[in-house]
Amino acid sequence: MHDQHGRWPQAESVEDFRRNMAAVHARIAAACQRGGRDPGGVRLLPVSKTKSEASLRLAYAAGCRLLGENKPQEAYRKWEGMTDLTDLRWSVIGHLQTNKAKLVAHFAAEFQALDSLRVAEALERRLQAEGRGLDVFVQVNTSGEASKYGLPPDEVAAFIRELPAFSALRVRGLMTLALLSVEAARVRRCFVLLRELRDRLRQEAPDGIDLDELSMGMSGDYEIAIEEGATVVRVGQAIFGARATPDVYYWPSAGEGKTD
Ligand SMILES: *Cc1c(COP(=O)(O)O)cnc(C)c1O
Repeated sequence: MHDQHGRWPQAESVEDFRRNMAAVHARIAAACQRGGRDPGGVRLLPVSKTKSEASLRLAYAAGCRLLGENKPQEAYRKWEGMTDLTDLRWSVIGHLQTNKAKLVAHFAAEFQALDSLRVAEALERRLQAEGRGLDVFVQVNTSGEASKYGLPPDEVAAFIRELPAFSALRVRGLMTLALLSVEAARVRRCFVLLRELRDRLRQEAPDGIDLDELSMGMSGDYEIAIEEGATVVRVGQAIFGARATPDVYYWPSAGEGKTD
């Protein structure tokens, strides 16, 4: 991608985190105003992937009580190192393989990338064993890119009809990653698609399945997402600073293909 390092300097102090989070909150509020929405209806989920535990602790000191991590193992390792922060909650926002369901069931408060019944089954079994519940979002592929995880939009309705069988999973809504593009109109189309899908599915949602939430928007596009109805924005670099690790490590490119 283009010059992210200049755009998102590293946050290196509690003050840096406070300033960055205040700036993001101000932009959230402005986007809400444009869309005629209440800023209280948008949750900021700071995304800490690739960042060190020291950096996460600075974010905590600046008031952050919820962190998003893409990779279950990285998330688990960080959680283990930070159990002294008892009110810090964790959201896993990246693809899960069934053999890692045990990790997520043990520590996460939320899982945003549910896109298969196999994963739902694995999580349910592990959550029952732990006596825990988990908030989940169904991930939808709104960009049509073969490389992206998530269900195709036309498979989501049937998938959601199966979810009441998993009593430990509390279904909250839908999640998507938009096209990574500099063309705002193409990015916006992904968000509109997710909102319209949610509105349609909400009519026919089974009992006990809430589809109130729309998790969409990242550092480069969260304002557009809010204009289109996001209730959760997942913002990493604009809070923590640019990442050194290329995003392809987290979002497999078409060339590499998906695993699992
Ligand atoms: C990394 C990540 C984000 C945040 O991206 P930024 O560009 O750092 O804001 C959002 N969602 C998912 C699924 C991610 O992996």
